[in-house]
Amino acid sequence: MKDLPPIEPARRTPPERFFAAMARGVRRVRPLRAVMLWPVVTRPGYWFATGCAFLYGLILGGRFEKRDGLHFFRRMPTWSYGRGGTTIGAIYLTTGNVSDDVLEHEAEHTRQWKRYGLWFIPLYIAAGTDALTNRFEVAADLELGGYVRKRGPRRPATPAP
Ligand SMILES: [Zn+2]
Repeated sequence: MKDLPPIEPARRTPPERFFAAMARGVRRVRPLRAVMLWPVVTRPGYWFATGCAFLYGLILGGRFEKRDGLHFFRRMPTWSYGRGGTTIGAIYLTTGNVSDDVLEHEAEHTRQWKRYGLWFIPLYIAAGTDALTNRFEVAADLELGGYVRKRGPRRPATPAP
């Protein structure tokens, strides 16, 4: 998993504030944080989330595929996930947002899920709804995720007449 950038959203909703305060509290108690992030604790949550997402995709008639090591359901109903698609555990759910860039972005989210297990849910909420200041989205690369326009090669300066 890539390191999370030390950014904070400028404003938070009350639930975001609640989870951010909880996360700060846990961070202060280092042994507690170590236990909570111990893979023995987090991994079952990751598996549980993955199993739930798999069943969810199956029940809603998505088409299961695997590409570049990422498991995903295409052809999901658009109401069944957030934004262009949602990763839950090791499963990405979408209708058809499956470009190589997006899959690379979502693969990083699966690594984040694997690291944090079910703690990923409150931590993601605490990171805020604005993707541009959400440290999980920034770490997964905003360009790959389609949140910001790709930086293309610089155009040569137009010569003065
Ligand atoms: Zn994302």
